[in-house]
Amino acid sequence: MARAEYEYENQEDLKHTWYLQTIGRATEYAPVRRIKCKGCERVYFTQVHCVKFCYECRFDNIGAMYVKRRKSLEKRENTVCKNCGNTFTPRRSGAVYCSNACRQKAYRERVTDEASHQDDESP
Ligand SMILES: [Zn+2]
Ligand SMILES: [Zn+2]
Repeated sequence: MARAEYEYENQEDLKHTWYLQTIGRATEYAPVRRIKCKGCERVYFTQVHCVKFCYECRFDNIGAMYVKRRKSLEKRENTVCKNCGNTFTPRRSGAVYCSNACRQKAYRERVTDEASHQDDESP
């Protein structure tokens, strides 16, 4: 973990080394990789190969938590509003209407429907 701590505290140095490598003037032997953390999606510089998460995201499965949260958000994306048919991303899962207005409108229509249905059945 010492290596990871060193990298975490020396991101600027690694960034510099990475830059020198991109212009072919690196003095360090170990190649620096510029990765996008799979968790928080921040840019992170590392010399440890096969690292996918930044230093912070490697603790307590924080990275995995980020991935999970993003996946559940993606799943919610493009939910079709049951009232107006627009696509939206609900803030909580299970929502079926894009707005309060749509929910209320749908509710009122349902109530009206039920009321008229009752009227039909009355003699
Ligand atoms: Zn991260
Ligand atoms: Zn709607």
